[in-house]
This record gives sequence, C-alpha cells and structure tokens, in this order.
Amino acid sequence: MPSDGLIKPEEIFRATRTLMEGHFLLTSGLHSPVYWEKFRILQYPEFTQSLCELIADHFSGFSIQVVAGPTTGGIIIAYEVARQLCIRSVYAEKEGDRRLIRRGFELEPGMRTLVVDDVLTTGGSIDQVISEVRRRGGEVIGVGVLVDRSQGHINFDIPFFSCHSTSAPSYTADNCPLCKAGIPLTEPGRGQA
Ligand SMILES: [Zn+2]
Repeated sequence: MPSDGLIKPEEIFRATRTLMEGHFLLTSGLHSPVYWEKFRILQYPEFTQSLCELIADHFSGFSIQVVAGPTTGGIIIAYEVARQLCIRSVYAEKEGDRRLIRRGFELEPGMRTLVVDDVLTTGGSIDQVISEVRRRGGEVIGVGVLVDRSQGHINFDIPFFSCHSTSAPSYTADNCPLCKAGIPLTEPGRGQA
C-alpha cells in the first residue's frame, strides 16, 4: 500500500485493523459496538505520517508555533505533525483530573498552539490540554484529530479538523442495547471485563 498521502484514511484503518467490532467499554466509561484500537495505526510510522500530513496541511496557513497533545497517543500525533510543520511538539500528562505540561517544556505567552489527539470521543483529554495551554499563556489556534467519533456533539469553538469521522454509536451502561442483549463486555487491552 503506498503512503503518498493520497490514500483514504478509511482504507488505512481497514488495512491496519484499527477498527474492531463487538461490545466495548471505552475509557470514557461509555459502551460501544465499535472500538478504535488506535495504537494499531500508531505502530506504523508511514501510515501515521500520511494521516498527520492531512492535519499538518489543513493548518499549514495558521502560523502554528507549537503542537500539543495529551498522553499517550497524542504524544505521537503531536510529534509527527510538528515534524512536518518544522516546529516543536509538547505533551500534557495526567495529574489527578487534569493534564499538565511538565518536563521543562516552555510555552511563551501568546504562542500559537495546535492541539492534536488520536480519537475524539467525549473531548475530555483535548479539553484538558486546551485548559493547560491557556493556563500557560498559549493561544489555542486549532484542534486536529485522526478520528472524530463524537457525532458532531462537541464544539471547541476553535477551528477543528479530523482525518475521518464516524457515526458509530456509544451508550451509557444503563442505556446500552448490547448489555440488554447479554453480549459480553470487552475492555480493550485487558480482555473481557
Ligand atoms: Zn453495554
């Protein structure tokens, strides 16, 4: 498969088996018949490069000065997008219920920052990075993700770009038809819950 940037994101997700079907407990606590095993894509630098190129191209005219992402997948996305834009990348790590930019990373006041992540579901991780960048005096210019599975319910009020959006549903545990049907719940990465 060529990785010349012309390949469709859906084809990459299919080829790498990044998309799985069943009954999954997401890190957000929601249940879904679909799970994006995002690290399956991130293990292939050439595919990650192709997708990050879409993000980098989209924001190339925005005078971005630094790219920031949340741990863990967002580190890889931020690094690759920044590499393509020839700027720096930083990442924000979990501390309690927020994410902090540590490790001596500097953000100068007003620095034009692009926030990136792998999969957008509830927007929690990205919100934490946006808050941290603003707390440090940076200006968040845009948000870019590989996969948007929020079904358009999330609005960051800043320019947003996703390589791919999916209409896969997600449910609270109380409201999950898969639970009602008695289908075993899988917690990805930890076997069956
Ligand atoms: Zn369920």
